[in-house]
Amino acid sequence: MSDEPSVERAQPTGIRGWALWRRPKPFIVFLLLMEALSIPGFALAFAGSGLPNRLEWFGFAILTAGATAHIQLTQRQEERRRSRTRTVLIDLTAVWVFPAVLIIPAELTVLLILIIRAQRWFTARRPAHNFIYSTVSHCLAASLAHLTFDSLGPHVWSSLTLLGSLREFAALIITALVYEAVQIVYVGGILSLAGPSRPTLSSILGSKADNLLEAITTGLGAVTAILLITMPPAVAIMAVVTVVFNRLAELDQLQNDARTDPKTAVYNMRGWSESAERAFGRATRSRGNLALLMIDLDHFKWINDSHGHPAGDDVLRRVAQAIDEATRPTDVVGRYGGEEFLVLLPDTDEITAAGAAERIRGTIAELRIVTTDKRGAQTTIAGRTTSIGVAVYPDHGDTLDILMQAADAAVYEAKENGRNQVRIAAEKLADTPDSP
Ligand code: GH3
Ligand code: MG
Ligand code: MG
Repeated sequence: MSDEPSVERAQPTGIRGWALWRRPKPFIVFLLLMEALSIPGFALAFAGSGLPNRLEWFGFAILTAGATAHIQLTQRQEERRRSRTRTVLIDLTAVWVFPAVLIIPAELTVLLILIIRAQRWFTARRPAHNFIYSTVSHCLAASLAHLTFDSLGPHVWSSLTLLGSLREFAALIITALVYEAVQIVYVGGILSLAGPSRPTLSSILGSKADNLLEAITTGLGAVTAILLITMPPAVAIMAVVTVVFNRLAELDQLQNDARTDPKTAVYNMRGWSESAERAFGRATRSRGNLALLMIDLDHFKWINDSHGHPAGDDVLRRVAQAIDEATRPTDVVGRYGGEEFLVLLPDTDEITAAGAAERIRGTIAELRIVTTDKRGAQTTIAGRTTSIGVAVYPDHGDTLDILMQAADAAVYEAKENGRNQVRIAAEKLADTPDSP
């Protein structure tokens, strides 16, 4: 439900006008609590460190220059990347921050982060409280990681034995884990409280690809630190690497976008077919079975006609999410087109598939979708029915295409028979489990 006021009121100014106060209460409490908790963290990290020496200032200057080159050369592209990302955004500047964690004092690391964030502010386009919060979490993660690395020292990298280098490598990994863990607690915690929809594990922790990217970025940061100690001018190479790396990260995201339906965030047909073909290949090789569901919303045109297309779009989004939640992670959910969805269920026989289809039909019928009608007034759409066709490999076809035809024909049967029901393909028509 929207938490924006429905009546136009004059917005308060000053502190009372902050966008923060319009967020959910648990979000506000968590944000302020975590920001308060960071203060003793900083105090701990800053205590006892004296003034930076000349070498540390030198390291700071090089890292700041590298980070600035990286940010300025990828500004436009980062903007595109940000506007496309819906969940966690991996910040590739860890390539510069992580080496700072390892070799310069915590205060200088925090200063470096502030310089980076000040430059990022222009591309961030986010509410100030989010931006400040993630800056605080970055700074704290770096400070606590620094504290960890220090406590595992002293670190003398100029004359390492084989055993010594193994020990240093372990220290690097432990430090990286602390650096990541603090960010996960801060960023993941706030994300789980941010939205109206139920958070998923991957919306909180990021996808596998995001985490790999994060790990590689931190690894590149460790390499930067080693270069900075042993051959400072070579850090210039890292500036080039990070710019190219930014491009690669964008490429990966573009590939993902090419497989995703932008409206519903499930697979589009290209993505669905790729994944479905792979699952189908596994089923045929192992002589296993597999089921296909074709899901068609009943009288969807009526929603558009009576509530408007934006309301129809909201229904599609919620239905796609509901199908996704009602299925297993290994099931492949896609939007076939319009108001039709496909689900491929690996290792599933006819009875289990019919059960899954029934569960999906029930879940959709229970949805209460809050949306806005043609006049912009809030309205709730509920009790939507669906017709679902089920086809099973190998019983109803030997290829994915034939299975899709069989499931489509079953949907047609369901519609003919009065809608709001699950039908199994071909002669093996099940008793209608539910009368319309
Ligand atoms: P039936 O019960 O026979 O399936 O009736 P129906 O109205 O669901 O089916 P029909 O095929 O007649 O109409 C589908 C409608 O879905 C028509 C089209 O305008 C609408 N539609 C297709 N894609 C979208 C979309 O992305 N957004 C919205 N809002 N409507 C869409
Ligand atoms: Mg249709
Ligand atoms: Mg329909």
